[in-house]
Amino acid sequence: KETQADEFLRQHMDPDTSKVTASYCNTMMKLRNVMGEPCKPVNTFIHEPLRDVQAICLKGDVPCKNTKSDCHQSSSKMRITDCRLKKGSIYPQCDYETQQKRKYIIVTCEGNPYVPVHFVGSV
Ligand code: 5GP
Repeated sequence: KETQADEFLRQHMDPDTSKVTASYCNTMMKLRNVMGEPCKPVNTFIHEPLRDVQAICLKGDVPCKNTKSDCHQSSSKMRITDCRLKKGSIYPQCDYETQQKRKYIIVTCEGNPYVPVHFVGSV
C-alpha cells in the first residue's frame, strides 16, 4: 500500500525537471495519476532535490491555517510548477494551465523519519 510519504513523492516531486513546457501539467497530472475524479483543481510539482524538500520538515515551523498538524515553510524559495485546472474542463478531459514559479513552500510532515506528507501551499 502507498504510504502518505510515497503519495507526496508521486504527486509533488519532480527534481530532475528544470524547464517545463506549456503541456507539462497535462502530461504530469496524467503520468503521476493525480487528476482524480472530479479533476483535481490545483496541484504543485517541486523541482528541487529531495533532500532539500525533506529538510523543510526539520525547521521552519509555521502555524497552519486549517489543519491541526504542524506546518513547515522552506527557508528559501523553491522552483515549482503550479498546475491549475482550466475553467470548463470536465473529467476525464482535465485540462491544466502550467505556471512556473519560485516561491516558499509549506508542507506538513509525519512519521519517523519525519518527512513531507502533504503539500499545503506556497507563499
Ligand atoms: P488560489 O491560488 O486559487 O487562491 O488557491 C489555490 C489553493 O490551492 C491554495 O490554497 C494552495 O495552497 C492550494 N494548493 C496549491 N498546490 C496544491 C497542491 O498540490 N495540493 C493541495 N491540496 N493544495 C494545493
